[in-house]
Amino acid sequence: MDRIAIIGAGPSGMAQLRAFQSAKAKGLQVPEIVCFEKQNDWGGLWNYTWRTGIDEHGEPVHGSMYRYLWSNGPKEALEFADYTFDEHFKKPIASYPPRAVLWDYIQGRAEKAQVKDLVRFNTAVQHIHYDDATQKFTVDVEDYAQQRHYSEQFDYVVVASGHFSTPRVPVYEGFDQFHGRILHAHDFRDALEFKGKSVLLVGSSYSAEDIGSQCYKYGAKQIYSCYRSKAMGFKWPKNWSEKPQLLRVDENTAYFGDGTSAKIDAIILCTGYLHHFPFIEDGLRLRTHNCLYPLGLYQGVVWEKNPRLFYLGMQDQWYTFNMFDAQAWFVRDVILGKIALPSIDEMQSHTQTLHEKEQRLMSDEQSARFQGDYIKRLIAQTDYPSFNIDAVHDIFMQWKKHKKENIMGFRDKVYRSVMTGKMAKPHHTPWLYALDDSLESYLEDEAQREAM
Ligand SMILES: Cc1cc2nc3c(=O)[nH]c(=O)nc-3n(C[C@H](O)[C@H](O)[C@H](O)COP(=O)(O)OP(=O)(O)OC[C@H]3O[C@@H](n4cnc5c(N)ncnc54)[C@H](O)[C@@H]3O)c2cc1C
Repeated sequence: MDRIAIIGAGPSGMAQLRAFQSAKAKGLQVPEIVCFEKQNDWGGLWNYTWRTGIDEHGEPVHGSMYRYLWSNGPKEALEFADYTFDEHFKKPIASYPPRAVLWDYIQGRAEKAQVKDLVRFNTAVQHIHYDDATQKFTVDVEDYAQQRHYSEQFDYVVVASGHFSTPRVPVYEGFDQFHGRILHAHDFRDALEFKGKSVLLVGSSYSAEDIGSQCYKYGAKQIYSCYRSKAMGFKWPKNWSEKPQLLRVDENTAYFGDGTSAKIDAIILCTGYLHHFPFIEDGLRLRTHNCLYPLGLYQGVVWEKNPRLFYLGMQDQWYTFNMFDAQAWFVRDVILGKIALPSIDEMQSHTQTLHEKEQRLMSDEQSARFQGDYIKRLIAQTDYPSFNIDAVHDIFMQWKKHKKENIMGFRDKVYRSVMTGKMAKPHHTPWLYALDDSLESYLEDEAQREAM
């Protein structure tokens, strides 16, 4: 029997486990699957850790999420087509759940599929090598629970190790003299640390927007954010000021491109992440920046130079969980021989065309549409339940509009599920005042709150 190694049990790896289980449930013969996960539980980034830097085993900490993180996009855009929020929570919930609620949801589907025993936890993949003669991958791992290093051979490998974990850390003049804390978003954990402080956020993407909002919500005195090319441009609260390019800092002051300066206590680098796969040999290693259509991956997932190797979830992400599903179902069917791959030249030219098409996209609207169309193409080739991607696209556009209207209030909006047709229920407390992000608090209904 063929053997498949899945690297990582985050949402992408769990999608791959579920895809094979779904084929098995339909009576198909599936290969033996081993999923290696370096953390002690599944859920990837959604499995919160307070740790930063190095974990208990000496591995780089994977987690980049923080306390009080709430979904930054509507849950209706990421809902699984085969496992709805209503099925999991047995009642309607609001559209922007906190991290713990989404983690619970992801786990719910995987538990229902009974695939946890396929995951070897506390086991880090340290090297992957392919042998042309045997056509097998050798996967070297360290099992930290058993204190054992071993190697096994596989016919296929699916890399699902994520790409929002290794920080991109720029250096600015004066960093070595600054008296306050300088950290990357990867190491940000608790906004309360910055209560009463003046914080500078370097960057203008989701991390800067959301970490700044967290700091505002939990009582930072003053927030500055600075951009290189384009301001985020939201209607910020009075104590949030957006500045052009950071030029330098000294002991306690930041200097910006427009000639202004500001006294600051801490600097948070919201400067993005690197696609980083140190555990895989050079010829198999994906090297890309964060984009919607990386080169080297046919249909966004098949490693063109060796189509026994796959990468999941390596795109920049408008869509997340249901895109990982579409990819996982496609990979499964390639491995099962249900989808035939064209020649390497055809694969490369197909990818090149789409990669170039991405360069011509002019707006968020076009980018979201581009990724939606990609998912449509994948789903059309498998039995993943089809869903209305154009309706999800409209949800993204409403989300953008709601953010423009009120960046501190967009999470109070609700949307209609494209899977069930039902409207979400407004949350009991506006996001700005909901300081408890626990699952229990989130799921409380009016009757329970009144009884308290
Ligand atoms: C701060 C932040 C906020 C986000 N917010 C949202 C949001 O609100 N909504 C949304 O939809 N998406 C959000 N995302 C996007 C996020 O990328 C996806 O939701 C999702 O977690 C990606 O899943 P993944 O499985 O591809 O990767 P990950 O979640 O990163 O999981 C990868 C897994 O691989 C494991 N792994 C890595 N290397 C190895 C190794 N060598 N050996 C064994 N195991 C390994 C890791 O431990 C991890 O469990 C956010 C991302 C970040 C960083």
